[in-house]
Amino acid sequence: MNENRREFLRRSAVSSTVGLAATSIGKASMAAAVSKVEDGLQPTVQLPRGRVPLSFIIDDSTCLVNMGKFCMPQFAATYPERKDYQKPWQKWPDEIPDAFVREFGEWCIEHGVKGKYSIVPYPACVGWLDRTLPGWSQAQLRQSLKLVRDLMLPNWDIHPEMITHTRVIDLKTGRPFADYSPAHMENSYPQQDVSVDYLASYLAYALQILKNCDLPCEGVTTPGGFGNRVKDKLPEAVKQSVSDVYGCDLPHYFKYVVGQDEDPTPQMEAFRSVDGQKPEFVVNVPAGTGDWFGGWDGVLEPSADKYCNADATEGAMVKWIERGQPAVMLCHWPGMYCNGRKTGFRAFQSVVQSIAKRFGSVTQWMKVSEIARYWAAKELTKLGLEGEKLVLIAPYACPDFTFKLPGSFTNAILKPSESEAGVRRKNLRVVRSLAALGRNSLFVDNSRGSDEAHSWICIDLDEGRSEIQFK
Ligand SMILES: [Zn+2]
Repeated sequence: MNENRREFLRRSAVSSTVGLAATSIGKASMAAAVSKVEDGLQPTVQLPRGRVPLSFIIDDSTCLVNMGKFCMPQFAATYPERKDYQKPWQKWPDEIPDAFVREFGEWCIEHGVKGKYSIVPYPACVGWLDRTLPGWSQAQLRQSLKLVRDLMLPNWDIHPEMITHTRVIDLKTGRPFADYSPAHMENSYPQQDVSVDYLASYLAYALQILKNCDLPCEGVTTPGGFGNRVKDKLPEAVKQSVSDVYGCDLPHYFKYVVGQDEDPTPQMEAFRSVDGQKPEFVVNVPAGTGDWFGGWDGVLEPSADKYCNADATEGAMVKWIERGQPAVMLCHWPGMYCNGRKTGFRAFQSVVQSIAKRFGSVTQWMKVSEIARYWAAKELTKLGLEGEKLVLIAPYACPDFTFKLPGSFTNAILKPSESEAGVRRKNLRVVRSLAALGRNSLFVDNSRGSDEAHSWICIDLDEGRSEIQFK
């Protein structure tokens, strides 16, 4: 036993006298017990694998339909005075072809990019993805959905972005309301107070169409200013609708963009905890950039440098990474394709490559749901010492769960939750650098001298009680 470890265990004895043996999740006594562990000895949860999460949020995507083209005249009808809705949509292609989805998706697989990809279920009222899409054959629609499932789903969360992204649908009839003023456009809906129940039904209607298309969802995206007047009700409505339609117990949503002087940390909202049960909540994951690629209609000239310049020394993404905060960038799908010019896609490629060149070993691409899960686990998992063991009590499982503790531990064994004694125990692999820290491994950071050594541990955290034994 080295000196650091002995000291660690001696001082940590404090914790073993305050009842860390509690095993059921959600007990108030647990939080109290953990907080009594002496300052500086408490393990602290870190970023996943010690790396800054990156994510790419894509809005206004769907199957085949070029949303930039079909939204434009509907927005113009609502806001006839707005010049930005008078662009020549008639000349733009109807389709963003599946060949481009494939090109984009394959490039992202090659470069490890992950994020969120909207599928608007009744895109701009053109057609229903679970029924028929006028202008395309049933076979084309089926193939397009299959492409999303096969190519995109592994690395992208699929969200409905409400039902149409244009006209509000009357849930009783399934038709758009006759009125197309801002009061009945999804981007500015609702203009009056509505109940959580109504809001949840609206979201559930959108989710159900994607479920009919065999697309799993753990969250939703709000189009434009949808929900702005009922921000206090939206989290509860998202939580209810996603769990009702999909049975998902850790839902999330995307609505907000934060500026560089704001906090980009994912937030748990609509939180409810009943003693002895898993807490219920929804995670609000914001983006940390504007759309500086091709814009929602695909005609903007991209400004890649606003995300990250060529040597990755400037840009919004660089700032978040340097601060160690989630760096989530935003775009709209028509602004990748840019009506066939693909200028947005090329700008995006340069941003991804610049980030990788300078920050490749300290960042990691994640889906939005993975970021939501990580922050929930970071907040809710109790870590504490019980004799010579470190005990983790987790209401939610979490891959790459990473924490740091004082001392230098060269041997550690993980006993995952509910395993038979010895059966699934895993020796944590010792790695020689933080960059090499991965699933079920351990890195001792001696860089500041052995007195200040810290051990980094990254595990696939199971739901329930896990233990780490140091030998
Ligand atoms: Zn949108």
